[in-house]
Amino acid sequence: MLERIRDKKLLMNIDEIRAEYPILTREVAGKPLIYLDNAATSQTPRCVVEAIDQMYYHYKANVHRGVHTLSQEATDHVEATRELVRRFINAGSTDEVIFTRGTTESINLVASSFGEKLYSGDEIILTVMEHHSNIVPWQLIGHRKRIRIRAVPVSDDGQLDLEAYEDMFTDNTRFVALAHVSNVLGTVNPVKQMIAIAHRHGVPVLIDGAQAAPHVPIDVQDLDCDFYALSSHKMYGPAGVGVLYGKRRWLESMEPYQGGGEMIGRVTFERTTFADLPFKFEAGTPDFVGISAFGAAIDYIQRLGLDHIAAHEHALLERATDELLTIDGMRIFGTAPGKSAVISFLVRDISSYDMGLLLDKLGVAVRTGHHCAQPLMDRYGVTGTVRASFALYNTLDEVDRFVAAVRRVASMF
Ligand SMILES: *Cc1c(COP(=O)(O)O)cnc(C)c1O
Repeated sequence: MLERIRDKKLLMNIDEIRAEYPILTREVAGKPLIYLDNAATSQTPRCVVEAIDQMYYHYKANVHRGVHTLSQEATDHVEATRELVRRFINAGSTDEVIFTRGTTESINLVASSFGEKLYSGDEIILTVMEHHSNIVPWQLIGHRKRIRIRAVPVSDDGQLDLEAYEDMFTDNTRFVALAHVSNVLGTVNPVKQMIAIAHRHGVPVLIDGAQAAPHVPIDVQDLDCDFYALSSHKMYGPAGVGVLYGKRRWLESMEPYQGGGEMIGRVTFERTTFADLPFKFEAGTPDFVGISAFGAAIDYIQRLGLDHIAAHEHALLERATDELLTIDGMRIFGTAPGKSAVISFLVRDISSYDMGLLLDKLGVAVRTGHHCAQPLMDRYGVTGTVRASFALYNTLDEVDRFVAAVRRVASMF
């Protein structure tokens, strides 16, 4: 599948791509929908929805336990996706690829299971730009264990302060967790460099890749990250499926996160042994339908090519940025070089809520509010922003209509 020659024609013909997404033909408030909330969730192409149908119609059976044919086939589908994920992130082994419900659950797994290794007085390093799902799990374990949490500051243009980061390491630093790409600012953080710094201090690193996976090539061995988390639903796949990559030596040394079926070796009331990786961390029946369809989504991304997708999105980002800046009182949050296709903005003192509501009346779907990143909002002294985020099926025409809509709303105040 992965070897299939990339169909460049597909990418150049945006109409053909859009035809794969029936939802994009919807109208909202009597206007054609312009969907620019892709950083919250991307839409799903027909090939992925069909993969879900196929699973229900032909392959539905529980995985890993059965000797019967359907169970074997369902298992094969799940394991085929595991191999696709392994290649997508270039993990060394499928043993290091754990299926979860999403980035949030992946991070909770590490915070909980790795967190068992942490003690009172230990310190962990996060950053000010983290999504709440890379803050709150650490606070939960941090509170129980009396661990100190420190956060790397962010510059005015949305970059992490690497000097401050280096200075944060002490003899008590035990863990670093940070976003690959900011969901608010679009900043692509220098994670490889930051991982190398942490490793010089003997500290493992988790990367929150929820916003990177749909846009940026990921190579966990090259990054040398210890953990990497991502979500299918932001990658044109179904909701309810995510991945945790972890280096084998960490995963082997960690206690299971949840107990149940699938994750055991032998159970007696005296003593239970656990299954080998990756099943040790996959208690209960997984979302085998969603996981199988996630495989179709990865295949779809690979067919179009992440480099082509990124180039297309970058063109949309440039056009949108240039045009938005011609609007009086426009303030864009996050202008780091090489940022990904997300624009957070405010116009004068118009609240993000008012802007979002009125844009919706013009058919434009954007995110408003704090974007699950309240510490970052505090950093910029705002309660929320409007966020437009682009995907491979958005067009320059949509960008123009979006900017015209923002201009129109701005003129109403
Ligand atoms: C969306 C997002 C998450 C949470 O992902 P879920 O799919 O909701 O678990 C975490 N971090 C970042 C940067 C995100 O954008």
